[in-house]
Amino acid sequence: YFASVEMAPGDPILGLTETYLADPRPGKINLGVGIYVDEQGRIPLLPSVHEVENALAAAAKPRGYLPIDGLAAYNRLTQQLVFGEASPLLAAGRVATAQTIGGSAALRVAADLLKQVGGAGAKIAISNPSWGNHHVVFRTAGFELLEYRYYDPATHGLDFAGMLEDLGRLEPGTVVLLHACCHNPTGVDLDATQWTQLIELLKERKLLPFVDMAYQGFDRGTEQDATAVRLLGESGIEAFVVANSYSKSFSLYGERVGALSMVGVDRDEAARLQSKVKQVIRTIYSSPSTHGAALVAGVLGSSELRARWEQELGGMRGRIHAMRAGFVEKLAALGAPDFGFINRQAGMFSYSGLSKAQVHLLRDEYAIYALDSGRICVAALNQANLDTVAAAVAQVIR
Ligand code: PMP
Repeated sequence: YFASVEMAPGDPILGLTETYLADPRPGKINLGVGIYVDEQGRIPLLPSVHEVENALAAAAKPRGYLPIDGLAAYNRLTQQLVFGEASPLLAAGRVATAQTIGGSAALRVAADLLKQVGGAGAKIAISNPSWGNHHVVFRTAGFELLEYRYYDPATHGLDFAGMLEDLGRLEPGTVVLLHACCHNPTGVDLDATQWTQLIELLKERKLLPFVDMAYQGFDRGTEQDATAVRLLGESGIEAFVVANSYSKSFSLYGERVGALSMVGVDRDEAARLQSKVKQVIRTIYSSPSTHGAALVAGVLGSSELRARWEQELGGMRGRIHAMRAGFVEKLAALGAPDFGFINRQAGMFSYSGLSKAQVHLLRDEYAIYALDSGRICVAALNQANLDTVAAAVAQVIR
């Protein structure tokens, strides 16, 4: 029955990790990962989360099904975090929100629904480059994929003029996928002025903004990192979509906690969107899981725990900034050409500017693993490996 089934290509990032694990060299370093690890190289269990978890274990509650769109308190608290507590959109009842299985399912559920709306001609524009799953998810849902200019290798920054030019040419109704902050894989973001300008264009051209926010709080804080969503909310735009993830901000990768929020023109439209989101979820996984949502809602729903979580999140963010600064400083001390752009990039990832050949040299000669694109995970740097990595990079770029 399955004789005709071919082997699907492996995930390049997971493949790299396998090669890393099989590497017998002592002192090997993996900068290819996509998770935040602490100074000791471990995935943190945030104390605020742990406290809620202990309380949940003690309460020993039964595990019934959640509603199709998830835990109500989680959705309400998510709306406040993503759109801001004073958001006029929330006051007007214009937002439909559903708990999803990570940010990934938010993308997939939205893709299915937007494909129903967009029909045969559904198109989405994705930044060049972007997180690989963006392409796969929307292609699988039946979208035609378009690309817009984003990263400028010459400056290691944003090609904003190219971005506006490409987006300005899109047909009305095209979905535009945007990274709210901490762009994966480049680390290159828009500033508030650029967001304002971009949103004007999206509005004028009748494009549908789709904001993927997987790293809220990893650059400057939960409020500042949601600038794109805040500005969209104030812009008077009729509709937009937000997929958010708590995988990184709560260090809850395996609990699969995320949400999809769809903004409609009024309360009635939001109610219809909510019903459609539920319909799509029912056909894929019926309802989301309980534990992760209870953890997030437990933290966000207590002002004391929420304040502690903000601090813990600030700790992760602070360490990332320190590693960026340390890396730039050490490379400068080694006489390498200017790597200051690493300080201007945001979040866990950085497009280091290393070529594929240099990445391979790093791996072969120094047992330091990075992606072929030159993407490194800054969070995988620590005080113990910073000197080694900087020295090796200084060698391979010679
Ligand atoms: N969007 C982006 C840009 C991401 O980097 C990720 C996680 N790598 C996700 C969405 C999905 O996150 P989750 O693990 O919550 O599904």
